[in-house]
Amino acid sequence: MTSRSNEIICRACGADTLVVRQPVYEGFTKTGEAFTCAACGEVYTSEAEVPFKEKAEEASVFNAADRPAAPSIFAADEGKQICRYCVNYVVNPFTQWCHVHRKEVEATDHCDHFERRPDTEQD
Ligand SMILES: [Zn+2]
Repeated sequence: MTSRSNEIICRACGADTLVVRQPVYEGFTKTGEAFTCAACGEVYTSEAEVPFKEKAEEASVFNAADRPAAPSIFAADEGKQICRYCVNYVVNPFTQWCHVHRKEVEATDHCDHFERRPDTEQD
């Protein structure tokens, strides 16, 4: 038994919400299940009609491409000797400043006066 997600993109209201499953009884006999949008109350008559989110995402070719690429500018620089990790690098609201060279710098600049700031050590 797979625990399927109840997340749906509702076909009626477009909400990213949950589907409410309820057993349907005829007298005391369970005859099926009703699927209702938790947001707007739209009723889906069978599970096959429920617009499960995972299904909707698979169906859309464009979704994956629309996602922004992982912001890894700094991740790639992790551990490098760049101004960002240097004791002499000072950031204030107006500028990024190097105390050694007494000039403006970029976080990704580097020079041979690099001294790692203790709090930037990697685990
Ligand atoms: Zn809905």
